[in-house]
Order: sequence, then C-alpha cells, then structure tokens
Amino acid sequence: MIGVGEALRLTLDAAPQLGTERILLDAALGRVAAEAVYSPRAVPGFDNSAMDGFAVRAADVTGPGVQLRVVGSQPAGSVADLRLQPGTAVRVFTGSLLPDAADAVVKVEDTTTQGDTVTVHAAVRAGTNVRRAGEDIAPGAVVVSPGTTLGAADLGLLASVGRASVVVYRRPRVAIVPTGAELVELDVAPGRGQVVNSNAYALAAAVRLAGGEPTVLPIVGDAPAELRARLEEAARADLVLSSGGVSVGDCDFVKEALDAIGVARVFWKVAQKPGKPLTVGRRGDCLFVGLPGNPVSALVCFWVYVWPALRRMGGHRRVHLPAVDAVLTAEVPKAKALTEFLRVHLEIEPAGGWRAVPFAAQGSAVLSSLGGGAALLVGPASERLLRAGNPYRVLVPMAETVLASAASPLAPEGDAC
Ligand code: AMP
Ligand code: MG
Repeated sequence: MIGVGEALRLTLDAAPQLGTERILLDAALGRVAAEAVYSPRAVPGFDNSAMDGFAVRAADVTGPGVQLRVVGSQPAGSVADLRLQPGTAVRVFTGSLLPDAADAVVKVEDTTTQGDTVTVHAAVRAGTNVRRAGEDIAPGAVVVSPGTTLGAADLGLLASVGRASVVVYRRPRVAIVPTGAELVELDVAPGRGQVVNSNAYALAAAVRLAGGEPTVLPIVGDAPAELRARLEEAARADLVLSSGGVSVGDCDFVKEALDAIGVARVFWKVAQKPGKPLTVGRRGDCLFVGLPGNPVSALVCFWVYVWPALRRMGGHRRVHLPAVDAVLTAEVPKAKALTEFLRVHLEIEPAGGWRAVPFAAQGSAVLSSLGGGAALLVGPASERLLRAGNPYRVLVPMAETVLASAASPLAPEGDAC
C-alpha cells in the first residue's frame, strides 16, 4: 500500500492540464492568468501632483519666504495648458496634471496666500511631491504574469492599463457520482436503512471552494451496469468524483466499473485513516477519483488530494491547503503505519501560535467532526501516539474563516472591531 505523500504526487501527476478562455475583468476575481499582460501605456500617464498645493519651479524656491505669483489653478482632470514662467506658481491638487516647466509641488500647508501671491515657507527640490509618468507601470512592463491568481489589486492594474478582459485557465468541470443502494435524495424522508445523499452536497460545495464547477449526477445503486453507464456519462467532465463503493465489500463495484470503461488505475488504497480505500485513475483527459462513501473519508480525501488536483488543473501555482503548526492539547492514540488525519479545532494560544483541540469522536462517519471549521492534524504514519504538548502540522480547509483573527491589530486596546 502506498503512503500519503506518494498518493498525493501520483494524483497531481495524473491531473489533466486544462485549456484557457478569455473572460471579462469583472468575472476574473480568483481566476488564474494564463497570459502575460504587458502594459501598452505608462501609468500614471502624465507627471502629476501628489499633494494639494502649488506647482513651482524648484529653482525659484531658494529658501523659506520666497514669494511667487499665482497664475492659475489646475484641478485634477483639467488641462489649463499653463506653462510656468520664472517666479510663478499654479494652484494644483492631488492628481492634477503638472504644468509645463513645473518640477515640484509645495504642499498647501507650507504656504500662505494673499491675493494672487503665495509665500512658500519650505525649500523644495526638483521632484518633490511629483508623481512621474510611468512610475507605477512603465510602457511594456508586465502587469500580470501567467499563473497569477487574480486578486483585487491585479484587476485594478489590468483596468488601469485598459485591459477589459484577460485570458485565464478554464475552471475544472467536476461530475459528482454518488453511489450506494441505501442513498436517498434530500427531499425524501429516509426509510429504515436509508441514508440521505449528503456527500453530494458536501463535495459540490468543496468543489466550488476549489474553483471548480460541480455537476451532481443522480444517485446510482450498487449495480455494475448502471454504474458503468453513469461513470461513462460523467467522463465528459475534467474530473469525476464518485463516492462510495471503492472498498472490498460485495457491493463495491466502482473499481470494477472504472476498469470496465477503460480507466487506467493510478492507485487503490492509501496507508491513511480515514480514507484508506481511495482510488485514482485516468482516461484520456479525465481524472477519476473514487472517494470512499463515509462522509468524513470522502471529505478528508477531497481536502488532501482533490483540492490540490483541482487547484493545479485551475492553473494555480500554489495548490496545497494552507497549513499551520499547532500544539495538540490531548493525547490521542493512532493506528500504526497509517497517516491519520485527526479532526481538530484551532485556537489561538495566548502566548502566540496555535493549539489544536481534537474532536472527541473521530469515526469516519462522524461528519460533525468536520463541521464548524474543523482542521486536519496530520498524525505521522510512524507514530503510535500523538502526544499532548507536541507540535503537529495541521491542514486548514476554510482557512479564511479558521485563521481569521477575532481582533484587529489596528483596534484600540481591548476594543473588539
Ligand atoms: P461505502 O464506501 O459505499 O462502503 O459507504 C460507506 C458508508 O458511507 C456507508 O455507511 C454509506 O451509507 C455512506 N455513504 C455512502 N455514500 C454516501 C453519500 N453519498 N452520502 C452520505 N453517506 C454516504
Ligand atoms: Mg456503498
């Protein structure tokens, strides 16, 4: 049986490369650039004032007390076409075009004005309070490089160079195939022996978080022919995620069905808990991941293997879940020779850093152990016991929520905001 590291490497290697598409900027947040964008222009496009004040010739302002004649005003956005003669100044504002021949701006706080005369109280040097054309982006400079996950500032940069669209990697299309004769849909009251198809909802949500586009297919019973047909139909996607039926039970037909439709098996079974019967395969440009049916196993395997695979397919440079080191608060025995993903809650240590509080029930069917922003402490395969007080690596799904600070470092002492 292969270990977790090997299984992750094989899964990432088997993930198909997706194509690209051009999309409008307002749809591009969080997408990954698939092109280098070069600026066709300088930003800012003209020398301008960084302050409210007076545009001057620095050579005129030889020392405090110099008086200059104010020959006009040039608010931001207006072009008065003023050329500064020696001994004159122009009233300007933040963002105002710098008048010709001006080379510095004296901020208004350093001046007093009487009629059309301004007295300058501070010396200035050429360039003081002037924003030069192209000082942010020079013509021809790279604004966004391939592999950049587009954030707010990147979209602002693209807009500032006049780019209304950007070429990005396509979102992975993911078909979710729930399997199990005992499953019923959410709107059906489960009878005796029946279970609501909760995995479809959990997995579809997780796919969305990873930037994929999920399609949930109807429940398939544990019937080989039906399963083959459904998996074949699902194979139009970039990734097929089945849940259930990958173990060694008499009704576990997923591996057999994958073999039958020509999916080349990459691996089956990983030395881990939960999620040991995980299987991965590939056919053409489609990656197949057979997740175990137990809700915790399915979701843990998603976070550990499918998340990075989807991120890679979506073009992201950094594909793994965020991780932190946290001190375990209680002793937990673990299975020998298996990597164990212990469900924990992260808390901030008063002295700094994180502590990991293990959820009481760690069964692979106890989905509550993953609720409320749980994280996954990685119990190394070599250890038999996870010790209280020891630090461990913790994978953090939902990191934006879990690692968000309760208090702002900018808030006044004791003031929660
Ligand atoms: P299996 O992997 O098919 O042996 O299923 C293991 C356990 O997971 C069984 O208790 C199933 O009822 C449960 N299970 C399988 N599929 C789902 C699903 N889609 N939603 C919720 N539970 C499931
Ligand atoms: Mg089953």
